[in-house]
Amino acid sequence: MRRLVQGKDIHKFLGFAKPIFADSGGFTNGRSETHYSPIEVLNFQESINCDALATLDYPLFDVNRREKERRILNTIRNIGLAIEKRTDKQTLLYACIHGETADEAVRFIDRLEDHSYLDDIDALAIGSVVPRKDQFIEILEIVKAVRTRTGKPIHVFGISGFKIIPFLLMAGADSFDSKTFAHASRFRYWIDPTTLTRIHIEKLRRRDCHCKACRTYELKDCLAPGSLGASRIAAHNFQIYTELVSRLGRSLSDPNRFLTAIRPCLDKITNFDSRVLPVLQEKELIPQEFVDEYDSERREPNN
Ligand SMILES: [Zn+2]
Repeated sequence: MRRLVQGKDIHKFLGFAKPIFADSGGFTNGRSETHYSPIEVLNFQESINCDALATLDYPLFDVNRREKERRILNTIRNIGLAIEKRTDKQTLLYACIHGETADEAVRFIDRLEDHSYLDDIDALAIGSVVPRKDQFIEILEIVKAVRTRTGKPIHVFGISGFKIIPFLLMAGADSFDSKTFAHASRFRYWIDPTTLTRIHIEKLRRRDCHCKACRTYELKDCLAPGSLGASRIAAHNFQIYTELVSRLGRSLSDPNRFLTAIRPCLDKITNFDSRVLPVLQEKELIPQEFVDEYDSERREPNN
């Protein structure tokens, strides 16, 4: 991929005119042992004319305390290098920050401030949360703590399930990256636009969807074997995902509209009322206006 794209405009290469965020590959780098230097990564990101880039980071999971500290130091050093060596200030610089807990994430930001790096970055990207995927509350605590510490835009790496998206936004995240839509399509699951449930393409009888992909391809086109069928399902899933996220973003300031928009997400959470909501409330991970709206709808379900 790197050799294929290096030096080419990524928008032209992908046929996609909207802003493109280039990750550093730190996550893959740390796992696959193919090591690139932070400068090589930065040069590559700038060479493809992306709109935002993330600094090279070293994930913290599965390492002992000494190794963890070493990785934190190197991740911070890379932020300094990116600030110093970047040549295009139009490209937004996202500093990758790490912490396995809210306290650790805040300490990381404190260290950026000690180095005087905080003013020179455009935004923060929270990494190292992927192995904690099911730890819904802990992830939101990290986002909330970072949001309380800084007013800069916050990206969350690798967390994007339909259950957690509304809460990431309420906790203060501005963006996140998703493989959900691609992952589902690889296993031939079509995401229902109304309920957001996954339906196997072979069990799908009709599609109630007016997205561009569904207008372009017939159901039988999506049944095509191999990556051809999967890519058509992915095109639909991607549109459902992006439409949901932009709808949520637009309604975030209006609890009533927001609640309507997130209903299918809430329906996916087991025991939301009895188990999840009280914890979110206690830890102040959701705004009081949302809780009030939720309570009033619960009292008058037909309203
Ligand atoms: Zn569709």
